[in-house]
Amino acid sequence: MSRKYLIAGNWKMNKTASEAADLIREIHAAVGSQTTVQVCVCPPFTSLAAASELVEQSEIILGAQDMSPHASGAYTGEISAEMLRDLYVGFVILGHSERRQYYGETNQSVNAKVLAAVQNNLKPIYCIGETLEEREAGQTLEVVRSQVREGLENFPAASVENLVLAYEPVWAIGTGKTATDEMAQEVHADIRKVLVELFGEGPGASVRILYGGSMKPENAAGLLAQPDVDGGLIGGASLTSRAFSGIVEAVLEA
Ligand code: PEP
Repeated sequence: MSRKYLIAGNWKMNKTASEAADLIREIHAAVGSQTTVQVCVCPPFTSLAAASELVEQSEIILGAQDMSPHASGAYTGEISAEMLRDLYVGFVILGHSERRQYYGETNQSVNAKVLAAVQNNLKPIYCIGETLEEREAGQTLEVVRSQVREGLENFPAASVENLVLAYEPVWAIGTGKTATDEMAQEVHADIRKVLVELFGEGPGASVRILYGGSMKPENAAGLLAQPDVDGGLIGGASLTSRAFSGIVEAVLEA
């Protein structure tokens, strides 16, 4: 089963609209025309409109960092799937550990967002991963399996091709500590097994599982060479074209 690599940049709460435009232009110049690796940038909501026009002339796909599970109505501060589609957003990061940690998101609340995303033809990048305490207690696989099962409850089999998972050990996010290549592969292979259980052999094997957690050009090649690591969700290193494009190039040169 060949899965196209996806390198997605999670800009978090960084970059004004004009800074975002500059960074997209730089990324476009570096890796925006190649089609071997799928490249996605996820700026803050306030930059999506400007970014949308810029990525139109490139192979770069636009992503968002969150989304409401509701279609419309009295939900102050929220952004709907339809609003994202209107700006040609293709991917949406859901259940990022920062949203779980600071905004009380749970497998159940993220599940509602995942289902709303696919119903609206957005591709969810569903984030999962254990905390340091959970890893040290030997609970990594158990925690991640529950996150996969509960977050994907009632996920429509017909939309499996639009599903992306991101395994992001919480202790590796923004800390400079990366999972070793073997640690990442062990968890990715286990996630793959759960996906096969849920959706069957072929569809389960077609889902891309990204690694996230302090990925940078220096460690990307080893992680991305693992059989079940199908790309990266990149935080800190996605904020400069040099580092982000360096990760894409690590795949191209492999
Ligand atoms: C992230 O926030 O998704 C992430 C992986 O961050 P970083 O690359 O900075 O660890």
